Amino acid sequence: MGAMLKLVERNLHEVQVGGNRLLFHIPSSSLFASDELTGNVIDALRQRDCSPAELTRHLGSRFAADDIGETLRELMALEVIHDGSPLTPEIGLQRVAQTALDTVVLNVNTGCNLACTYCYKEDLTAPSAGKRMSAATAEASVEMLFAESPAAPRYNIVFFGGEPLSNRPLIEHMVDWCERRARELGKPVNFAMTTNATLLNEDLVDWLDAHRFGLAISIDGPQAVHDKNRLTIGGQGTYEVVRKKVDMLLARYKSRPIGARVTLTRGTTGIEAIWNHLVNDIGFAEAGFAPVTSGNVSAFNLTPEETATVFANMKALGQKYLAAALENRNIGFSNLHQLLGDLHEGNKKALPCGAGLKMLAVDHQGELNLCHRFTGSAVPTFGNVHHGVNKAALHDFLSQRLNRADTGCAACRIRNLCSGGCYHESYARYGDPAHPTYHYCELMRDWVDFGIAVYSRIMAENPGFIDQYITPRKGN
Ligand code: SF4
Ligand code: SF4
Repeated sequence: MGAMLKLVERNLHEVQVGGNRLLFHIPSSSLFASDELTGNVIDALRQRDCSPAELTRHLGSRFAADDIGETLRELMALEVIHDGSPLTPEIGLQRVAQTALDTVVLNVNTGCNLACTYCYKEDLTAPSAGKRMSAATAEASVEMLFAESPAAPRYNIVFFGGEPLSNRPLIEHMVDWCERRARELGKPVNFAMTTNATLLNEDLVDWLDAHRFGLAISIDGPQAVHDKNRLTIGGQGTYEVVRKKVDMLLARYKSRPIGARVTLTRGTTGIEAIWNHLVNDIGFAEAGFAPVTSGNVSAFNLTPEETATVFANMKALGQKYLAAALENRNIGFSNLHQLLGDLHEGNKKALPCGAGLKMLAVDHQGELNLCHRFTGSAVPTFGNVHHGVNKAALHDFLSQRLNRADTGCAACRIRNLCSGGCYHESYARYGDPAHPTYHYCELMRDWVDFGIAVYSRIMAENPGFIDQYITPRKGN
């Protein structure tokens, strides 16, 4: 170690939490407490490059030479400091050469019985004009999944729409069919669905429960907020009917916790009041918030000021989450819960999500899309379930995002958590799904710093919360 040592700033992010100095190791998304010696090494190298001998002389009056040597070795192994030898490429892969599909999203009907003002779905139609997927296409989609990934330990089938329950016969057929095929293959199969709840009844709820559907309900908050946008085709607010159905659902559904999914559009930034209503008044297990910043109807997009307020309000609710977590209670705030899960697992994401990689979404004609948000869009599809996946096109697309050279993401401190952001957000904003979502990077970085601070407090003061509430969730 005679060469000059340098700090590798792009691999290191420091966060102060309650007077403690924490080191966020960017390549692995892992968090380390920085001891006094580590802090001193970093500070010295931030002043100027030094040789190990110079550093040992500089710090020798306060620390033992062996400890200094050990710390330098550890920091070099993490590539937080280096001696000029080449650094390990962060993303080993230059190109996506294969996918690991385990999820297929079936867009069972483009029709929806509601007419929510802000809906992003480009293929959305009224129920009478809805284009329904046939059983042959749905079965071919799942056979494609089995054939593409014969070694997957389990398979996930997601029903999407429009409103998926507007094609209930196909869902019922597919659940029986998938369970039979999965038994033949000796593999478990999971079902999931996001629904507006309006078509639920007791029999249907019991049937969904018996098949352990993972359910998310689209609901935007208290009546005044929900009824602003979530309307019937005739223009009436839907809160009352949704509330009645959800009360029935939550009273009967036993197999899995049910979450609420909130769409935040212009004029709505009051996260805490919405969460309070959904979790404490109604009884959802959790509420997750999707801020709309780039929808195709720009009048519904949050303004930049509102987007900043949404993030500030997410942090305020996050403080409540933290206070409850220190008392070993989970208050059901999905956005923060998910971020803590990623930090806990040291999730390093080369790509932002599983779209195209683990999951494909099938439209009513059997065309293959990156995810449910792209069905019916102008983005070219990646093959068809009847003729096969266009792997060359899919791998080209994913490889484009994998390559961060010449993008702002290359040196971004949250590059392995954000990975350039949601493809659909990019498509809606820039007309190009491969473009990074640059429009709220600072807010995202600040949100991740907040998550790091919350995570470190929980780990220091009540680590049992992580074991009880964060770790098991991943196995769901
Ligand atoms: S999109 Fe922005 S926040 Fe996300 S990785 Fe790229 S530069 Fe960072
Ligand atoms: S592309 Fe965006 S909407 Fe689609 S799965 Fe990924 S994060 Fe979700």
